[in-house]
Amino acid sequence: MAQGEPVSSGLRGRCGTCGEGRLFGRYLTFKDSCDHCGQDFTIADTADGPAFFVGFFILIVFAPFMFLLPIADVSMTLKVVGLAVTMALAIGATLWLLPIAKGIFFNLQIHHNSGQREHRSGE
Ligand SMILES: [Zn+2]
Repeated sequence: MAQGEPVSSGLRGRCGTCGEGRLFGRYLTFKDSCDHCGQDFTIADTADGPAFFVGFFILIVFAPFMFLLPIADVSMTLKVVGLAVTMALAIGATLWLLPIAKGIFFNLQIHHNSGQREHRSGE
């Protein structure tokens, strides 16, 4: 179904080659290969790219609340509760978005054959 669609299969945590096999064995840990098509998952490494983009997105979305709540004209209790809720939402959104971003990055790397290169003499 999603064959050749690295972004949509990455959103679903599926193999970018066949769109069926699961990418992750555990949370944020890739399997060694696709259960469905046998695609080798050890040829790519997303490193900290997904964490960088998810971190910036979360910062842009939640930072205004973190700056405005302390100076808002509300009771101290409401400020503390508001900051705690905002922090919990930011952490929850980060944990939810990380595997999605990692799946998309990973599938794009495999799709564009842009995994880490080995140095070969003479090339
Ligand atoms: Zn596959």
